[in-house]
Amino acid sequence: RDPTVKKPGWLRQKAPQGDKYQEVKDSLSRLKLNTVCEEAQCPNIGECWNGGGDGIATATIMVLGDTCTRGCRFCAVKTSKNPAPPDPMEPQNTAEAVVSWGVDYIVLTSVDRDDLPDGGSGHFAETVRAMKNKKPEIMVECLTSDFRGDLDAVSLLTNSGLDVFAHNIETVKRLQRIVRDPRAGYEQSLSVLKHAKASKEGMITKTSIMLGLGETDDELKEAMNDLRAIDVDILTLGQYLQPTPLHLTVKEYVTPEKFSYWKEYGESIGFRYVASGPLVRSSYRAGELFVQTMVK
Ligand code: SF4
Ligand code: SF4
Repeated sequence: RDPTVKKPGWLRQKAPQGDKYQEVKDSLSRLKLNTVCEEAQCPNIGECWNGGGDGIATATIMVLGDTCTRGCRFCAVKTSKNPAPPDPMEPQNTAEAVVSWGVDYIVLTSVDRDDLPDGGSGHFAETVRAMKNKKPEIMVECLTSDFRGDLDAVSLLTNSGLDVFAHNIETVKRLQRIVRDPRAGYEQSLSVLKHAKASKEGMITKTSIMLGLGETDDELKEAMNDLRAIDVDILTLGQYLQPTPLHLTVKEYVTPEKFSYWKEYGESIGFRYVASGPLVRSSYRAGELFVQTMVK
């Protein structure tokens, strides 16, 4: 962290508790599922697993392994040019575990797999189909890579039965090169989100931007307007936190009031839902956001 930028008190979070949280946690220890929620020690675990006011419990799980072919400067995931091949049993095993677990809304995410011909899209799609076959009412969001801009890979996934297609643009246009792996990019991410919307009727699309990386207000407005121009439905905005001293430093801790301002701004330009706050992450209370988006 930049020593001149001090971490403010609003980033502290209470220890998780609650009935549903405990139920989800207990059943998790019986199943062999690795949640991003626990592994990343996410501060929102109490809110997501309890399901907040609407009682829709959300959890995030990772498929396609724990080793990424890319290296973004904000992310602490392990990287390698040749990660282990995907486990062919993973879609079925994941589906079985998820449906017997007490969550209503699953966010499936993965590392980037540039080593696979379809970027892992087929594996994602198979996992979604297996979950929906076993429990049609479970709601599924896929938070994916850009599949190197391969729009066929995007279509394969959007037609697998998922409810929400999410891909994160991460930061404003000017900072893409500094923040993300050079194989990612602003235009490529926009084209993936645009195609996801067009490739399946009624598809809900979602993206996320980290704040505090040195972006200006005008640059953030530009990004939000560009996302609206391709009809992205849901936006989440959260504070960037430096995972280790080797990663990008935090340039600014954005105040909770400013996050509220961005929520209002985003909804005024037509996003169906904006979740905006210092601890908001892209899957933050995703189930509730989805339901609220559908009733709007
Ligand atoms: Fe991390 Fe995703 Fe970047 Fe891989 S592509 S380094 S998982 S942010
Ligand atoms: Fe899990 Fe995402 Fe919620 Fe964190 S924000 S607890 S990773 S679902």
